[in-house]
Amino acid sequence: MLTHGVPQRRVGIIGGGHNGLVAAGYLAKAGFRVTVYERRAVLGGLCVNEAVLPGYQVPTVAAWYGMLRPEIMADLGLTLATYLPNPAHISVLGDGDYIIEAGTIAASRLAIAGVTEADHVGLAALLDEVFRAAEVLWPHLLRAPVSQAAFVAELNAAGLTTIADMCFTASLEAYLRRFITHEKLIAAYLVETFGPPTA
Ligand SMILES: Cc1cc2nc3c(=O)[nH]c(=O)nc-3n(C[C@H](O)[C@H](O)[C@H](O)COP(=O)(O)OP(=O)(O)OC[C@H]3O[C@@H](n4cnc5c(N)ncnc54)[C@H](O)[C@@H]3O)c2cc1C
Repeated sequence: MLTHGVPQRRVGIIGGGHNGLVAAGYLAKAGFRVTVYERRAVLGGLCVNEAVLPGYQVPTVAAWYGMLRPEIMADLGLTLATYLPNPAHISVLGDGDYIIEAGTIAASRLAIAGVTEADHVGLAALLDEVFRAAEVLWPHLLRAPVSQAAFVAELNAAGLTTIADMCFTASLEAYLRRFITHEKLIAAYLVETFGPPTA
């Protein structure tokens, strides 16, 4: 096919997750004829809402909104409403134990039998360091990579010394054990996304 005398090129994108869809959007804007091949019946990849039980439509994998860059939304003419669920995160841990993360320490609940005051304090310190480290990391996502040493220096300069010491050299479990001791709490934070402060 010719468009204004230029052969229109065709592109196939395998996978209709949000990266495939964003790439398809930019390529289509640039004049390509794009076909997205998705193996599932729904588009969106891991970032979809699905009915897990009748009447319960929930994000089945990725649940936290915020990483889709505003300039991409503007470029593609997307008008997505920001929807922040409250509570943001619920971990059901069995035996009646649970963690509800609701955006603030006051609104959150950590209900695990045997958790000590030291665990509460340690968890708050842990989450504070993780979220402050994320603020240091975030601008790097759109920059040329820096060395490990340079990034560690940035973390240390921000006073984030534990994560600076451990992020490239230790396991997540070892990092968690610097702050908390309750085994169920450690297990919960080994498998779940880090949510807002909990106390
Ligand atoms: C447990 C978990 C939790 C996460 N939570 C969050 C979160 O809360 N917030 C957040 O922003 N990000 C989260 N992420 C990350 C986010 O899900 C990914 O960054 C994002 O889904 C990547 O998008 P993608 O399009 O590259 O891949 P995917 O979303 O994985 O999409 C790939 C698509 O390709 C399809 N596909 C694969 N192979 C083929 C094939 N051969 N033929 C046809 N189709 C194919 C798949 O079916 C799928 O639809 C999470 C990831 C995980 C694993």
